[in-house]
Amino acid sequence: MKRITVFCGSSTGNNPNFGLQAQLLGKNLANRNIELVYGGAKVGLMGILAQSVLAHGGKAIGVIPKLLKAKELVLEGLTDLIVVENMHQRKAKMNDLCDGVIALPGGFGTLDELFEMLTWAQLGLHQKPIGLLNIDGFYDSLVALLQTMVAMDILKEQNKQMLLISNNIDELLEKMEAYIPIATPKWIESGK
Ligand code: AMP
Repeated sequence: MKRITVFCGSSTGNNPNFGLQAQLLGKNLANRNIELVYGGAKVGLMGILAQSVLAHGGKAIGVIPKLLKAKELVLEGLTDLIVVENMHQRKAKMNDLCDGVIALPGGFGTLDELFEMLTWAQLGLHQKPIGLLNIDGFYDSLVALLQTMVAMDILKEQNKQMLLISNNIDELLEKMEAYIPIATPKWIESGK
């Protein structure tokens, strides 16, 4: 993996470990020579992550829609800043640029981005690894919901397994490196 897109909160949350782990991920990406692609903002976990990448000599590329740029939320000093028309273009661009994605704790924006990548993967539109860094159990209830979806035959187990989960950065990156895409995208099979 040469470039990873990270989705994460535009807030920091009230658990200091979220910011700490965002910092550690930034350092880890820089040390591994993996470029960061992210939303371009200076706020929240997004800002902490990108600042850490840059502080450790790495490269951070921001992809931001005009609307958010106008609000002066952009982090100064990014390696590159790509300004797009809207949120849809942003997600497409963030996908185009990366070899894999990671979600850290976040809110609606983060979940929207994460699930769009999962949806595209299940349709076979891309085959990139998708990682969830489950810091301090933040995503436990989401993982439980996915298990319920499988138990209720709404989600296929093999599609659930597209989401690689760990509470440890190194382990998550190793899982992503080792990821083998599922053979059959959802709609190529008949029926169900
Ligand atoms: P949220 O998880 O709702 O805080 O939203 C964070 C995600 O949505 C990030 O991955 C960004 O791509 C996008 N996003 C939300 N708010 C902003 C913002 N103020 N500036 C830039 N991107 C944002």
